Amino acid sequence: LSPVLREAITSCLEQKEQVILLLNRRGYATFIICRECGHVLRCSACDVTLTYHRRPNLLLCHYCGSRKKPPETCPQCRSHNIRYAGRGTQRLEEELNQVYPGARVVRMDLDTTGRKGSHEKIYQDLCKGKIDILVGTQMVAKGLDLPNVTLVGIVNADVALNLPDFRAAERTYQLLTQAAGRAGRGEKPGMVVVQTFNPGHYSIAALRQNDAEGFYRRELLYRETGKYPPFTGLIRLVFSGTDAKAVMATARGLTGAINEAVKEKIAGGAPGRDGHEEIIGPQPAVITKVQNRYRWHTLLKTADLDFYASFLPQLIAEYQRKNRQKVRVIVDENPYSML
Ligand SMILES: [Zn+2]
Ligand SMILES: [Zn+2]
Repeated sequence: LSPVLREAITSCLEQKEQVILLLNRRGYATFIICRECGHVLRCSACDVTLTYHRRPNLLLCHYCGSRKKPPETCPQCRSHNIRYAGRGTQRLEEELNQVYPGARVVRMDLDTTGRKGSHEKIYQDLCKGKIDILVGTQMVAKGLDLPNVTLVGIVNADVALNLPDFRAAERTYQLLTQAAGRAGRGEKPGMVVVQTFNPGHYSIAALRQNDAEGFYRRELLYRETGKYPPFTGLIRLVFSGTDAKAVMATARGLTGAINEAVKEKIAGGAPGRDGHEEIIGPQPAVITKVQNRYRWHTLLKTADLDFYASFLPQLIAEYQRKNRQKVRVIVDENPYSML
């Protein structure tokens, strides 16, 4: 925590007011790395790093839910010199208990709200003043109307901002404004502290200046120049299967077939399509493997989603019938996730 945020928390606690801290990463350490050889622990079934959780002591994959005991030594070089890096909500909770020993700190994330009613219980305790500092994931940003909360701290605003997704800025802005809105809802004025390595980014600048209009304009400009929705229709094809070669072959073969079909349709005089159809990929997905299934994807940008609706389903079905590979193809219109 920065000195600014620490000081703000201290003065808030002195005034008997409440604090909400948002950190959108659960667990204790978000990646585990060997100091000797640099090996990073990953899920054996997914291409993602494992998160270390305390109580119980486990390494968890947040994608497939697999769990295992943390190793005593590095699986690659047998060194004992293993570093638990990256801070999650569990570690933040622990740090807060050390820095503010008198404060009642409560954590709200997927791990503490699993049981029915636990979410409500935390909210009630907060209302009754039984909690001084609430720390948690995006759950803490939602809908809490608490007049005695005068400080909201965004511990790491860059978590969502750095995702390779065209909606990263929008989601960041949305989460930050939502969280910031929790501060100062009563008569006492509120304060919001945002910790970021990108203070100049327009989503964060707009939050600081309370300039929703300005954010909207910048975001639209970015979407227009980058040809992203709402200025273009977007379809994401995700190819997945347990045989890496078959997945790659299907991704390439099918994307090639789509390319041909699009060219043919434009040459055949499909109205107004020329220059508007863009095919990006295929390439390995950002997360190249989930639950032992390898993943590739292709993006189709189009002036008109109906253009693809008219032939894509048949083309895919036909391709799969001919090639008989065990590869799943998912067609995602206006995809929610780009990972
Ligand atoms: Zn090692
Ligand atoms: Zn996994």
